[in-house]
Amino acid sequence: MNLIFSLIFFSLSAFAHNNSSLKTYHLMAPEIKVIDAVAEEFEVVRKIANGFEIYVPISKQTRFLELAPNAKLISKTEFKNAGTFAGYRDYKIVEAELKQLAAQYPEIAKLETYGITEDGHTLYVLKVSDNVQIDEDEPELMITSATHGDEIITVEVEMELIKSLLQNYEKDARLSKMLKEKEIFFIPMVNPQGYSQRDRYANRNTDPNRDYPYPGDENKKSVDCIDAVRKWFHSRNIKGSIDLHAYGKLIMFPWAYTKSSPPKDDEINFQYLTNSMAEINKYEAGQISKIIYVAKGSSADYYYWKNKTLALGIELSTSKAPPYGAVPKIVEESREMIWRFIEHF
Ligand SMILES: [Zn+2]
Repeated sequence: MNLIFSLIFFSLSAFAHNNSSLKTYHLMAPEIKVIDAVAEEFEVVRKIANGFEIYVPISKQTRFLELAPNAKLISKTEFKNAGTFAGYRDYKIVEAELKQLAAQYPEIAKLETYGITEDGHTLYVLKVSDNVQIDEDEPELMITSATHGDEIITVEVEMELIKSLLQNYEKDARLSKMLKEKEIFFIPMVNPQGYSQRDRYANRNTDPNRDYPYPGDENKKSVDCIDAVRKWFHSRNIKGSIDLHAYGKLIMFPWAYTKSSPPKDDEINFQYLTNSMAEINKYEAGQISKIIYVAKGSSADYYYWKNKTLALGIELSTSKAPPYGAVPKIVEESREMIWRFIEHF
């Protein structure tokens, strides 16, 4: 939506409500009686992505959430993209949810920060493991999302998988074993500025996944969010990593910067791991530069190059931001792939 249209949109909204303290909620696939009750007391703006967009005065939020506890807040900054991104988490929602999960599961989830971006976004990493407060001698794994800020499906998938692990600890034998044997570090928003603006880039024009040093440009300077995640990475000994992207249904390993293959032993390891991950969801597995294109300065190359990390890049799904109703299916198609990755180490 262009600026003039946005201004008209905001003006009309303000005029219609004569009240600027409104929040917009996305109510997904509600039962008829729920939407009926909501519509009686609130303004249902329009039908969107498998649900409805609803304006809620701040003073009536509590009442609204009694009627529709599953509704999701859409932040005001998302107005311009509400049609496309309705239902998706934003930075503040992810931040609040991470804090809430760490508070709810203090034995197995620990939230840490590893910096702050120049524009003021806190950078979060959630450690998930048994005895989480202690540094146990277990394989360390890292799963990152939203390196490209507009690939917002990645954050939904990562957050849902985190919740599965935490909610099923000591209930599901397979997931419990993962938490007992590994230390998994989740970074749901590598590039929070881009993510907030639904923008691929960091600091407006830097592609974060072309911004890591690589063999050939070893002293490359990175933009703030990539510099921070690199420093954090070097504070650990990460054995395996996944950087989630969208889209393409691909599970990929280094190298990206060259068509040359990694050394034979590593290549066999990578092939074994990625083929096993792709077995159920039928994603295509292979070397980055061979199945998409040569890309210099990507995360997987950096982590593999610096620490021999079995570092993967995954392109989820068939869209960066599918209609929100499609998200559960994409979470499901990702689940076994990620569990197999964790179990590999
Ligand atoms: Zn990407």
